[in-house]
Amino acid sequence: MTTLPAQSIIRSVKTDQPVVALTFDDGPLPGQTEVLLDLFAREKIAVTFFEVGNNVAAHPALARAIHAAGHELANHSKTHPDFGKMTDLDAIRAELVETQAIIRETTGMTPVVFRAPYISHGPALWTVLDELQLPSIGHAHTACDWDAQSTRESIMERCSQAGPGDIVLLHTWSEKSAKALPEIITRLRAKGLRFVTVSELLASAS
Ligand SMILES: [Zn+2]
Repeated sequence: MTTLPAQSIIRSVKTDQPVVALTFDDGPLPGQTEVLLDLFAREKIAVTFFEVGNNVAAHPALARAIHAAGHELANHSKTHPDFGKMTDLDAIRAELVETQAIIRETTGMTPVVFRAPYISHGPALWTVLDELQLPSIGHAHTACDWDAQSTRESIMERCSQAGPGDIVLLHTWSEKSAKALPEIITRLRAKGLRFVTVSELLASAS
């Protein structure tokens, strides 16, 4: 693992390898998670799922299926709060530590990266991230699939802009993103990129 700068959101890494990381937030969610897992199995690629602790607790079999398929599970808090508005260190710590425990107890693996809901950070969150030694992951490109105006086409265009070292954010619940993915994968492969998990991406930093 490379040394990471303190209190900075990681959106991409400098790397001489042709690697890109697709990331999916807010699961596991019955129905949508299976659609994604089927696609990634067909395409033989590994991605990173930033999971909500309460969703993992509600759908443990899906979390285990993600892990068994070789994908990375990462911490996206327990209840999806806006940490930028939170100042209570104990409450923030509980969100992160309990999610680490839920994922570890469910899958046997312990997350090594975190993404804040809404990519919203405050000083108290940074204090807890420092304590837990968890890097905070943002995105170089986003599907903007939360926007009602987004279309399969707009998602494809946005995500296909990714280059070496970039992190791309999509959401597990977005059917539009799921439909755009085969073409996104084709276009990124056409640029010579290969797909890695976020922790593999961090490890590839030059
Ligand atoms: Zn989220």
